[in-house]
Amino acid sequence: MKLNNRGLLVVISGPSGVGKGTVRRALFSMPNHNLVYSVSMTTREKRAGEVEGKDYYFVSKEEFIHAENSGKLLESAEFVGNYYGTPLDKLNENLDKGNEVVLEIEVEGAAQVKEKMPDCVMIFIAPPSKKALYDRLKRRGTENESEVLARVAKANREFRSAYLYDYIVVNDEVNNAADRIMAIIRAEHAKTSRTLDKYLELIDEK
Ligand code: 5GP
Repeated sequence: MKLNNRGLLVVISGPSGVGKGTVRRALFSMPNHNLVYSVSMTTREKRAGEVEGKDYYFVSKEEFIHAENSGKLLESAEFVGNYYGTPLDKLNENLDKGNEVVLEIEVEGAAQVKEKMPDCVMIFIAPPSKKALYDRLKRRGTENESEVLARVAKANREFRSAYLYDYIVVNDEVNNAADRIMAIIRAEHAKTSRTLDKYLELIDEK
């Protein structure tokens, strides 16, 4: 029996290079879910293989600032020289339809989401170690050495915001991390604070 019909806003965050994207893709490849990915807007250059509207909406700085000033973004942040933000359109519509909306964002934006939508589920993806994070960024090869070092320096600050989260999931192995996130989503749906009102209505009807 389903006790709440609204979907969850699931915020997956953590330092760059921790494997948020890989974990998210593993999560979406699992069977029987109604997860919807919230595609972000960014001013970053498109990387080889990235697809407009699927990985990001790639926009100019002017377009980004315009979207932000017109209240079209739930949150936004500057990350190592580029802007990133979550478009608001479709977000509430999807939640009302009962879909779980998944945001994969950096920690500054995650804190803004928690402020604006405190009902969200905050999940911090952590690396098994700082060295593992550095090695992963190097291996990924999408940034040069100085950009890797900038991201590692930022990660050292980002670890300190882990206390803001409801859950910490260590990305020791991608499929394990995705399994844990799915378990969190299922458990969150049964949480008393999300289900009690509906449950009390239902028992009287029977
Ligand atoms: P990348 O350039 O590696 O794609 O992303 C850099 C960082 O920005 C990552 O930590 C990524 O999760 C984060 N990010 C992606 N989209 C958004 C967004 O809409 N808002 C915020 N605040 N961060 C985002």
